[in-house]
Amino acid sequence: MEEFSHQIYGCRKCRLWEGAKHAVPGEGPLDAKVMFVGQNPGADEDELGRPFVGRAGKYLTKTLNEYGIRREDVFITNIVKHVSPQNRKPFDDEVRACLPYLTAEINFIKPKIIVLLGASAKETLRIDGVEYIQVIHPSAAMRFTKMREKFRQQIGEVAKQIAAMQT
Ligand code: URA
Repeated sequence: MEEFSHQIYGCRKCRLWEGAKHAVPGEGPLDAKVMFVGQNPGADEDELGRPFVGRAGKYLTKTLNEYGIRREDVFITNIVKHVSPQNRKPFDDEVRACLPYLTAEINFIKPKIIVLLGASAKETLRIDGVEYIQVIHPSAAMRFTKMREKFRQQIGEVAKQIAAMQT
């Protein structure tokens, strides 16, 4: 996995590396049963080289904690591993170039549950035997009260699925 992260750090398969300070590979235990997948890192993630460490990430971590899910127990990653200029949505060719990294992360970690954050995670590879749960993106949930309630409900569902998996 370390070697794999090095590939991501040195990746030049699309243009995004040019404007980025750090590549942002996924992080978490290699035997994690649950994986969270977002779209692409923002400025804070670019600064630190870690996924979901900015406002949306803190909100996600806090909500997970409220439902008894510890961030340290889950693997958190993004489809695209470099920030985009002005935080624009990654172009299709950038997503396509980066997708093999996510596929490799999924194949390596072999999670039982994959939580897709926001509609943008729709490109994520579907594998038989893996439970996929799509939830609202935490940045949308932070901004809109209605979405916040829904997001909390959805994370509650994720917590239930995790509990069910352990019994
Ligand atoms: N939003 C994402 O989708 N990913 C991050 O890493 C941070 C914010």
